[in-house]
Amino acid sequence: MSRKVIVLSEVRDQTLRNVSFEAIAAGKVVAEGGEVVAVLLGHGVNSLTDQLFHYGADRVRVIDNDQLKTYTPDGFSQAFLAVLEEEKPEGIVIGHTALGKDLAPKIASRLQSGLISDVTDIEVAGGHIVFTRPIYSGKAFEKKIVTDGVTFVTIRPNNIAPLEADSTLTGEVAEVSVEIKDLRTIVKDVVRKASAGVDLSEAKVVVAGGRGVKSMDGFEPLKELATVLGGAVGASRGACDADYCDYSLQIGQTGKVITPDLYIACGISGAIQHLAGMSNSKVIVAINKDPEANIFKIADYGIVGDLFEVVPLLTEEFKKLKV
Ligand code: FAD
Repeated sequence: MSRKVIVLSEVRDQTLRNVSFEAIAAGKVVAEGGEVVAVLLGHGVNSLTDQLFHYGADRVRVIDNDQLKTYTPDGFSQAFLAVLEEEKPEGIVIGHTALGKDLAPKIASRLQSGLISDVTDIEVAGGHIVFTRPIYSGKAFEKKIVTDGVTFVTIRPNNIAPLEADSTLTGEVAEVSVEIKDLRTIVKDVVRKASAGVDLSEAKVVVAGGRGVKSMDGFEPLKELATVLGGAVGASRGACDADYCDYSLQIGQTGKVITPDLYIACGISGAIQHLAGMSNSKVIVAINKDPEANIFKIADYGIVGDLFEVVPLLTEEFKKLKV
């Protein structure tokens, strides 16, 4: 059965986040040959529509409104619901990001639909679209199908590959006009805590530090390695609690859940709550001076040693490969 699917595009700093393209790819699977309509909400975002076509959107609906300059639950839900009202889709795909985690349940409750959240894989099997999602903090996976109503899912960033971009693709862009009112929150300013650079939740490479880095300065070698690899720096809660870094870097059960291609854990013991945030990384490298550290149980490659010796050596070797 082919479906019309709406996918929400996410914009940060006037740039489309990668998860927007992953959502289009997921939307294509859910659509089963039907139409995928990308929705772009924001202010001054009209120039971004081309990219959505390049990654496979069939049509784009835009709401360009200064009330949507930054995310607010009221503003975005009013705008998104206005598009849904016009389009009446049979499928909806949103990124399982901070924004998506806030918006999707609100929309689902307004539509009185189900919601499969945090999907890591989508396949067509036995005549159904089967969605895989982690449960018990990533210790097991469940497979779900939708039997009735709108197929509404959020997808975990970095798990569903975007389609290959084709710059010859184009399509129809139509604005939706909506009056956004009764905002209960107004964002006056956005202050970035983490330093500029690769976004931790979308990074392909993450170099993470734990209590073993011993100080704020101890993160410097990790930052250098991350820079050479074009990645982001993350941390365990141990490091955050010790004030070595900001909590925005925390990975784990009560931090960010990430799935990079390469995760390098430096001076992290591998507590279950930390594993909940990174155990689905594609390749895990652990550097720890304790050969019995739990992190080695899930690591693909383990280096027993002092991180202050090992990390600079890795950085130097990767630098040579780049030359
Ligand atoms: P430690 O356990 O102290 O490990 C430090 C490691 O560094 C050791 O293995 C040591 O051998 C190694 N080391 C020391 N010096 C060196 C060196 N020079 N070179 C190499 N290795 C060295 N934790 C999270 O990370 N994320 C969460 O989201 C999270 N949520 C939690 C939620 C709850 C409800 C609870 C109760 C706990 C949570 N925790 C979380 C905390 C978690 O249980 C651990 O306490 C924490 O992950 C430990 O951090 P760590 O591995 O950095 O520190």
